[in-house]
Amino acid sequence: MWSPAIPTSIKTHVGIILFAGGHTGPPLRVFVNPPLNNNLHSHERHTTMSKRTPFSLPLILTVFALFLLVGAVVLTGLSTDSLPAAAEGTVKRKLPCVVIDAGHGGEDSGAVSESGIYEKDANLSVAFALRDLLEMNGISVILTRDEDILLYDRNVDYQGRKKVLDLAARKTIADAYDDCLFVSIHMNAFPDPQYSGTQVWYGIKDPLSQSIAADIQTHALQLQPENHRKIKAAGSNIYLLDNITSPCVLVECGFLSNPEEAERLGDPNGQRALAFMIFSAISPYLMSGSA
Ligand SMILES: [Zn+2]
Repeated sequence: MWSPAIPTSIKTHVGIILFAGGHTGPPLRVFVNPPLNNNLHSHERHTTMSKRTPFSLPLILTVFALFLLVGAVVLTGLSTDSLPAAAEGTVKRKLPCVVIDAGHGGEDSGAVSESGIYEKDANLSVAFALRDLLEMNGISVILTRDEDILLYDRNVDYQGRKKVLDLAARKTIADAYDDCLFVSIHMNAFPDPQYSGTQVWYGIKDPLSQSIAADIQTHALQLQPENHRKIKAAGSNIYLLDNITSPCVLVECGFLSNPEEAERLGDPNGQRALAFMIFSAISPYLMSGSA
């Protein structure tokens, strides 16, 4: 039986999280990620993502300027009344780091928009943007994957077990940083294209998870004033949240099945806005200067 290695750096890779969860508004999520070996077309069309390359100075400045712009836009809309309790200094417990988990990867595209946006790619882009914001603010970050890959040991007989091995590997990483906040990034899909909006799930093993999920959901209103979705406790249908003992949330950023929202989810500015929204919500729970 393969034991996933404990990661020692952000270079660690993991893969997927798959579930058929539920949502307020539309009926419970019935979108089921296509079986890995039924996804050849998507996989063939996908260009393998390269590893991180060093940023040029102009690019860094541009990205930083965009963060400031997004921040200004988001913060302009905030009022004291709309700030969650966490932002008012009532957080008693601060976490030393964040494990960011970009859902899916490699053979598993996750949801795919009609225009061809792959969930696995959008998840990773949001994860990178969130990582950058956190690290800029002195907060330690661990990425479960930083390239387009599923995590399973290629040296074992993984046929038919990729998902199981991958989820095990993700949990191993979460367990290795069990004093940290685990944030899983996903995009939603539903057969009816009308549904949209961020929805946040939380694990029930640590009570802080619910509070953090509520704050992220509240902050989502700044980007999506019409979003009246409620946070939901994860059950056994969300393996990681159901099994991780640390504070953990899963952010379904929006619906790739909604053409308008899909464009925002696939757009770098939209992805940075989502990352900033999550960052704003979780930062009161984090120790700065821990990086
Ligand atoms: Zn997903």
